[in-house]
Amino acid sequence: GSTIGILGGGQLGRMLAVAAAQLGYRCHVFAPEDAPPATDVCAAVTRAEFSDAAALTAFAGAVDVVTFEWENVPTAAVRLLAGLVPVHPGVHSLEVAQDRMAEKQFVEWLGGRTAPWAPVSSRAELDEAIARIGLPAILKTRRFGYDGKGQARLHSADDADAAWDAIGQQPAILEGMVEFAHEYSVMLCRGADGRMVDWPVPVNVHAGGILASSSLPAPSLVRAQAADAVALSRRIADKLGHVGVLTCEFFACRDGLRFNEMAPRVHNSGHWTIEGSLTSQFENHIRAVAGLPLGPTDLVLPRVEMLNLIGDQADDWPRLFAEPGTHVHLYGKGASRPGRKMGHVTRLGR
Ligand code: ATP
Ligand code: MG
Ligand code: MG
Repeated sequence: GSTIGILGGGQLGRMLAVAAAQLGYRCHVFAPEDAPPATDVCAAVTRAEFSDAAALTAFAGAVDVVTFEWENVPTAAVRLLAGLVPVHPGVHSLEVAQDRMAEKQFVEWLGGRTAPWAPVSSRAELDEAIARIGLPAILKTRRFGYDGKGQARLHSADDADAAWDAIGQQPAILEGMVEFAHEYSVMLCRGADGRMVDWPVPVNVHAGGILASSSLPAPSLVRAQAADAVALSRRIADKLGHVGVLTCEFFACRDGLRFNEMAPRVHNSGHWTIEGSLTSQFENHIRAVAGLPLGPTDLVLPRVEMLNLIGDQADDWPRLFAEPGTHVHLYGKGASRPGRKMGHVTRLGR
């Protein structure tokens, strides 16, 4: 087919659509927001709610295959679409990745080690969880968290009431605080035939719960753990029957790796692959979704650095364009707001 439907209209959808265009595909975005970033570069846009069955049905009739750039698309919408048109990745990947408890159980079942955690569905259960997990700890909503939102840190038992209120008294998990040396992510892409490629593993630095940078080569502790992290991520992708890019975030601890979370989609920590890899995450995702062979993931140059432009960091973009060798990406979001991802820059070196 030649039209790819994308659920969600953010910057990830925008970069997917740019990659798809290069391969000769048209993209049709389905998103509830008014003029989100992807719509500038897409041939067609449906602005409707994910609960709108008529709009979903019309969308399915207008596209040849559907993918998503946002992992919180309601599974009911994806099920409806999957009855009408191929959807990659499938609903199983979404279901597991949408729920931190299902995600942790799934990965533990596959032999992965996570932070110590306990379910919390009531204020009383939070006390039980604190007794089991200990402090400091992080209370995280099971669903809809991103960029550190839906999380509250607990340093003493006195913080429990405030933490429970801060996350809106929703179903949650309590995670023990992990003392990590570094954070990193495994990005892989699985084709419909089950063949997989994975990218060299970057080290990720977060600030205030938001990704600030991804760079390669990663420190030696990360490089020493990368093969095990990739092997676990490949098992996850196989068991999910995942088709497309899958991203798994890890903590590098002195005593080994711990799985943090997964995203069943292209990911901010892989933006460096646009210039830094022989095939970008966006191109390989489109190739997988379209049923094409996947491209190689080798580094173009040994050093790569991707810096996010968050809030007003994007405002001095003329200076960035003036830097030789700096690749500037702006997402066309208009006025900057604190904590908002406005763009990124990538630099390569020897
Ligand atoms: P994303 O935007 O990556 O989806 P998120 O909101 O889902 O993020 P997490 O990845 O769970 O959140 O946490 C955000 C950051 O907070 C992590 O990258 C890490 O820096 C820190 N963090 C999360 N959980 C723990 C933990 N158990 N121990 C120590 N630090 C943690
Ligand atoms: Mg997350
Ligand atoms: Mg994360």
